[in-house]
Amino acid sequence: MLALYHYLVGRGHTVTAVAPSEVPEFLRWMPGCNKLVNYEAQSDTAKNALKNADIIFGLDFNDFNRTKHLEQLVEELDKPKIMLDHHLFPKPQWTYGISMPEKSSTCEVVYDFINLCGDNALITKDIATCMYVGVMTDTGSFRFPATTASVHLMVADLMTRGIDHTRIHEEVYDSWSEGRMRFLGYVLIERMEIFRKYDAALITLSRKDMNLFNVQNGDTEGLVNYPLSIAGIRFATLITERSDEVKLSFRSKGNFDVSKFARLHFDGGGHFNASGGRSKMSFEETILHFKRILSDIHPK
Ligand code: 5GP
Repeated sequence: MLALYHYLVGRGHTVTAVAPSEVPEFLRWMPGCNKLVNYEAQSDTAKNALKNADIIFGLDFNDFNRTKHLEQLVEELDKPKIMLDHHLFPKPQWTYGISMPEKSSTCEVVYDFINLCGDNALITKDIATCMYVGVMTDTGSFRFPATTASVHLMVADLMTRGIDHTRIHEEVYDSWSEGRMRFLGYVLIERMEIFRKYDAALITLSRKDMNLFNVQNGDTEGLVNYPLSIAGIRFATLITERSDEVKLSFRSKGNFDVSKFARLHFDGGGHFNASGGRSKMSFEETILHFKRILSDIHPK
């Protein structure tokens, strides 16, 4: 979103970048982040920006319900809505759009979009920095299967704009608070269950757990990936108790389709190997429900 923001501003447009919730701390250093409007903190500013816009771009989602509290407003507004995305199964809600699940990241789609507009020369260091963050995080630092040759070509091009990839990596991955690091240790010891029979692992985080270590929602980012580093584990789930809902994250290795799993059981979706969903049940009921489903399927 910030890469597109900088590009459109560079083209002389008036742009407001709106996020449905708070940006996690490890991304707040990004160029332009201070201009972002967080709907949860500045709902009137966000609503007015959307109401006054000529065009609305939706970045990195394909279903209006992913905008949380903004869903109804986005649905009602009668103006062109353009999707730039790489998730499976886009909803037919958009006026125009590029939906390419084979792409590594939405940043790669934005890069293509700028190039298709004939504006490669307008990619500044700030734009390149934002794109690098997006492609680095979405490819697990260039390791997931969607990291194609074109991703490396794009990164080579971004490097020519003067980005500092070592600093970007440090800002995103080496900026943990001490509490977050200790929280990780606690979670792996106390809150991770392994189900060898199903090659699966489950991490459950209650509000109480999070309060104990004073961690924020953004601090749980990446936790779901840890169990996949255990030999033989092919399906990992994180169930988090949030203030307004119970959130689930799913990851897999190999041919278990977690996007189908998320869609079928938890009103969610995403990618083949990385998806999410939500539950209206209580935190405890959600855990029991998940375990019941797990014993009915064999994610191998
Ligand atoms: P995460 O587990 O990191 O929240 O999300 C993993 C992937 O699944 C991301 O691409 C994210 O956009 C997608 N995702 C997460 N939660 C949901 C959800 O509730 N619905 C849908 N459709 N996609 C989701």
